[in-house]
Amino acid sequence: MKKIILTGDRPTGRLHVGHYVGSLKRRVELQNSGEYEEIYIMIADAQALTDNADNPEKVRSNISEVALDYLSCGLEPEKSTLLVQSYVAELTELTFYYSNLVTVSRLQRNPTVKSEIQQRGFHSSIPVGFFTYPISQAADITAFKATTVPVGDDQLPMIEQAREIVRSFNSTYDKVLVEPKALLADNEACMRLPGTDGKAKMSKSLGNCIYLADEPEDIRKKVMSMYTDPDHIRIEDPGKLEGNTVFTYLDAFCRDELFAEYLPEYNSLDELKDHYTKGGLGDVKVKKFLYSVLMEELSPIQAKRKELEKDIPAVMEILHKGSIQAREVAARTLSEVKQAMRINYFD
Ligand code: ATP
Ligand code: MG
Repeated sequence: MKKIILTGDRPTGRLHVGHYVGSLKRRVELQNSGEYEEIYIMIADAQALTDNADNPEKVRSNISEVALDYLSCGLEPEKSTLLVQSYVAELTELTFYYSNLVTVSRLQRNPTVKSEIQQRGFHSSIPVGFFTYPISQAADITAFKATTVPVGDDQLPMIEQAREIVRSFNSTYDKVLVEPKALLADNEACMRLPGTDGKAKMSKSLGNCIYLADEPEDIRKKVMSMYTDPDHIRIEDPGKLEGNTVFTYLDAFCRDELFAEYLPEYNSLDELKDHYTKGGLGDVKVKKFLYSVLMEELSPIQAKRKELEKDIPAVMEILHKGSIQAREVAARTLSEVKQAMRINYFD
């Protein structure tokens, strides 16, 4: 079976360092590994509209922002197809047929949807489109016959639901769809990077992000005001690592080689942690180090973005071309789906 990747992001804002460690960095590695025959990276604008129906301008303006983030991190249109979801109308049609294979109670049990409904304060006024977005996400994945979906761990319930839809479709009609597998980051800190406020997940919708394209000065300010251990008041006090966001970020970003350049008194992150938990190491010093570590990773990405920003029409053209290509693939799957369902009356 062909190895195919599909993954994507909602254009509800620029991409942040959580996206980067949770999925984006991995996608670039997978792209360059040459192990995958097809790679689709989707800007999920239709999904973004499910909880932003009153603000299409926000979605529109973030299409090119997300594309810039993709390209500046190293996704290449020659190797990966970059597409815009709403252009591929076949995805909506697939969603409609899959909807008949999913119950309302199954959707209500989806833990990610549950917590997002709470976060967004929808209470009982949940937009139907938002409630059913796991089905549309299953359509996105299966339209491209993706085998592999690199995601953060908040997406595991979505992939599970997609797998159920595939099994149900294939057993009800015919074996046309492919069951996808989630691919998580191998480092726990990266699977769900917390926000700078220490909240469980860095998320565009929660305003607790360090964006890839933030100015260095803004990143410095965000790092310096990050949540640490509230009981670590004096430098001599022993500090806690659990729930200490600064150390979680170091787990996600730090390589031991960086100590020689930025904090030569230590050789490794383990040594730094050891000193912190024993007492005698202040938060400010650790935060300054984290800032250097982050900038080491982000500086080249930011420089590339500045170049790409000079020609936005070229960026949009990449998306247009990719969307046309993707649409052909999705149309083929849709036609197989209709054939399997025996609703291809005029073929
Ligand atoms: P929104 O708040 O609009 O939902 P988001 O910040 O959650 O935005 P998405 O576009 O929903 O971002 O997620 C895109 C991808 O990035 C998904 O695979 C998701 O799992 C991953 N991701 C998002 N936030 C994080 C995070 N904090 N840590 C690791 N992965 C993340
Ligand atoms: Mg999200």
